[in-house]
Amino acid sequence: MSALSPYDLSYPELEELLTGWGEPPYRARQLWTWLWRRLATSYQGMTDLPKGLRARLAAELLFDPPRPGALQLDAEEGTEKVLLHLADGEAIEAVLLREGDRRTVCVSTQVGCPVGCAFCATGNMGFRRDLSPGEIAAQVLHFARRLRGSGERVSHVVVMGMGEPFLNYAATLKAIRNLNHPRGFGLGARRFTLSTVGVVPGILRLAREGLQLNLAISLHAPEDALREELVPLARSWPIREVLAAADAYVAATGRRVTYEYVLLAGVNDSPAQARGLARLLSGRLAHVNLIPFNPAPGLPFQRPAWPRVEAFRRELLRRGVDATVRRSRGVRIRAGCGQLRTRHPGR
Ligand code: SF4
Repeated sequence: MSALSPYDLSYPELEELLTGWGEPPYRARQLWTWLWRRLATSYQGMTDLPKGLRARLAAELLFDPPRPGALQLDAEEGTEKVLLHLADGEAIEAVLLREGDRRTVCVSTQVGCPVGCAFCATGNMGFRRDLSPGEIAAQVLHFARRLRGSGERVSHVVVMGMGEPFLNYAATLKAIRNLNHPRGFGLGARRFTLSTVGVVPGILRLAREGLQLNLAISLHAPEDALREELVPLARSWPIREVLAAADAYVAATGRRVTYEYVLLAGVNDSPAQARGLARLLSGRLAHVNLIPFNPAPGLPFQRPAWPRVEAFRRELLRRGVDATVRRSRGVRIRAGCGQLRTRHPGR
């Protein structure tokens, strides 16, 4: 883990630190504004802070935003994927998706991932370490700085990159709270979507946070045996426990839960499996996101033909389950989970 950065601290922590140094509380407000609203890139540029304070900050809190490396663009789709190099030599990937007025950043929460989904390049890469709150937020700030040049802003954040956010719960929530803070970046809670493979304790904990975040749960199969093959971590939490936790989340927040379902040809895309999924979800405040698999070298799965995808969706709709097909954006730039990182090992 790298040294503490100012982006690792919450507002109260920053205020406590600065007042502990003998600074008046308004210095924390100034610093917070520089960090999160004015998107500063160094302490040197924070010209309304005394030189002595800037020097002490530089000595005690490492200001070292990740350095952008390999960049992949798809001008037609408006998708940008960047490899960000961290202070300790590791690398993570972050993606900017443009859709209408939306500017969505997809962030990673871990370097690699311990879940090991059979269809995921990151899962096959293994787990290296958790990201700090500052490293998670830095991915959003990277694109916020880029967009600022054209007068645009990040409008949404999806926590769907490398890693399982609920296995790095505290850092993920701290990054979200910091990005949500009204005096700083100020992105509304409903603009965030957290995606989990169904880590039940994490879902229940999130339900108690008092935050109106969107929750997405990756199901990928309507029965436990297949789900455990595709998502090895699912062995810890059978589908009925995951759905019970999702129900608790809906009861606490009133937010509809999204269920992600990667469609793999001949594996989980049959009409019978669609009916099984509908049986699980009908009557629940739920939406299904069907994601035709994004083919990748070394992964033994294929994308279903389009009629098969449509037939799956129709089975769900016929049974009263709301479902859409998410276009696998970034196919041409290989923006599937973990694919950029695997091609450019960080060290
Ligand atoms: S799909 Fe997500 S949870 Fe599964 S291995 Fe990849 S990064 Fe981890």
